[in-house]
Amino acid sequence: MADASWGNCKNCRFFAANGDEPGAEEVQSCNQPELKQYALVVSGDSGCNAYEARTGETVPTYEEPAPSMN
Ligand code: SF4
Repeated sequence: MADASWGNCKNCRFFAANGDEPGAEEVQSCNQPELKQYALVVSGDSGCNAYEARTGETVPTYEEPAPSMN
């Protein structure tokens, strides 16, 4: 039976991917807080029910407006 919270590591925010769109063959560590103690190394095609979708493709960067020079 499918679990609604199950997902692939490549789309999980705990996957320590190098880029924004890790591939199925990419092998990285899992940084899920409860799983991190086991030092899991998983591929993009792996998955588990602790999966949490990444909220965005990139971390937004904020730029301060330039100070006015009056
Ligand atoms: S093992 Fe689970 S928690 Fe860890 S990256 Fe894969 S889906 Fe996410």
